[in-house]
Amino acid sequence: MPKDFLKDAKNHYDVVVIGSGLGGLTAANILAREGRSVLLLEQHYKLGGLATWFKRPGGHLFDISLHGFPYGMIKSCRRYWTQEIADSIVQLEGVRFDNPMFSLTTTFNRIDFTKLLTEKFGVSEEAVTQFFDTARGMNFFDDQSMTTGQLFEKFFPGREDVIRLLMEPITYANGSTLEDPAITYGIVFSNFMSKGVFTFQGGTDHLVKSMEHEMRRNGVDIRINCDVQQIKIERGRVVGVVVNGREIKTEAVVSNANLKGTIFNMVGEEYFDKKFVDDAHAVRLNNSSTQVYMALKQGETIDRETGDLLFCSTAPLFRTNLLLSRDITSRTFSFYYPDIRPDKPERFLIVSSTNANFDDWAPLSADEYAASKQDLIEDTLNHLEKYVPNCRERIDHVEAATPKTFEHYTKHISGSSFGTKFEGLAVSRTLPEQVPGLYHAGSCGIIMSGWLGTINYGVIVANDVSNYLSKSALSTTSSI
Ligand SMILES: Cc1cc2nc3c(=O)[nH]c(=O)nc-3n(C[C@H](O)[C@H](O)[C@H](O)COP(=O)(O)OP(=O)(O)OC[C@H]3O[C@@H](n4cnc5c(N)ncnc54)[C@H](O)[C@@H]3O)c2cc1C
Repeated sequence: MPKDFLKDAKNHYDVVVIGSGLGGLTAANILAREGRSVLLLEQHYKLGGLATWFKRPGGHLFDISLHGFPYGMIKSCRRYWTQEIADSIVQLEGVRFDNPMFSLTTTFNRIDFTKLLTEKFGVSEEAVTQFFDTARGMNFFDDQSMTTGQLFEKFFPGREDVIRLLMEPITYANGSTLEDPAITYGIVFSNFMSKGVFTFQGGTDHLVKSMEHEMRRNGVDIRINCDVQQIKIERGRVVGVVVNGREIKTEAVVSNANLKGTIFNMVGEEYFDKKFVDDAHAVRLNNSSTQVYMALKQGETIDRETGDLLFCSTAPLFRTNLLLSRDITSRTFSFYYPDIRPDKPERFLIVSSTNANFDDWAPLSADEYAASKQDLIEDTLNHLEKYVPNCRERIDHVEAATPKTFEHYTKHISGSSFGTKFEGLAVSRTLPEQVPGLYHAGSCGIIMSGWLGTINYGVIVANDVSNYLSKSALSTTSSI
């Protein structure tokens, strides 16, 4: 008999959370901490969603999306998770750029960037100050007609080199482009510039296990291998979910799954009004990624001077389409030193990431796909040679992931790494107006993606759900 992953689950919960990405985990934890009964359903055999890791023989442990996040994570983790989780967040010191326009190392914060822009790039202090103040003052309710490209043109006209310095890391951090609304850049850039780039000591495995422990302490009923097929709606409101063929009743659902997948696959467009359905269809997905994971043999080391994060490119100019092209010219190398996991065997690892289009990979035959992956690996090793000499002889494990890999493990449509483009946020926020009790908390709108963005979105949505449940309880009581 197949294992029943819902064994002993109750027939009713106050809230069902679909998906255990950082947004889903955070919403589940907050609601349980408030005393709500919460069921967390994850289709994969592991919690974490894109915040994940994998082990390979030889003591190698790779992180998939632990490359860097802003300082704000410390506050969010302390408030909504635990002091211990917040205390494990440490700063990355060496952020490097290497491209045909410039090579430099930075601590990636406002002080250092101001120094670089004025002294190395020769921009006036006044323009730099005004730019930083404008970016920091941006918020969701601002005029959204200005694009990031126009913002740069306003402060640094004709300065392709300055634009590259300011934009390249943010494109990697949330997939945003020069054509996206300027606030998607301003908010995320300012978050990083407050103090620099941070990481989680202990690795993603330690973070997710600590979160799991905290959720269990708060009473979340956690179930893996539980694929939600349907969100059930009756008389216009959420009444339950169908998972692994079983129906479980609930007043509210928080979907952490892909926004479009939630609307069109799990609910069905017949439950929404026409304008909403049109808006939801018009939401563009964000791009996907490729990665190459490389582990050095035991005893081989990487010089600390190599840095933690290296944005390298051979493209003469910064162009968004070049960052997405199958013909890769730009990649981010993350270097992992043994101090990331001080209690594990000493290992040096490298992960190369590039933004990528699903459509460049999806139509390939099995043979073409395997050959393309091998090409990606060979090309990456060729480029790594410049920063880690003789890397081919020193590496004992290498493998690649593509947009199809990300789609396979997370069910994100087209393997989207950062949810949707900006317009997805309004659709996500309007869901409960369309169907009371239906919420979405997961990567969307560029701003609400990345580790910090999704955790914060989980917090916002947990508060919405809490208010909804309190009001529903009041209306039930008053009608008795
Ligand atoms: C290659 C790569 C590198 C990245 N690097 C960084 C970085 O350095 N810094 C940073 O801040 N961010 C990074 N990100 C982005 C960051 O990882 C994500 O934005 C964030 O983790 C997404 O969280 P989420 O809450 O949206 O959920 P997701 O992680 O997208 O998880 C959604 C979950 O829902 C589950 N699910 C889907 N459908 C169902 C269903 N029907 N039933 C049950 N469960 C379901 C999935 O299995 C998954 O676990 C990176 C992303 C990628 C792909």
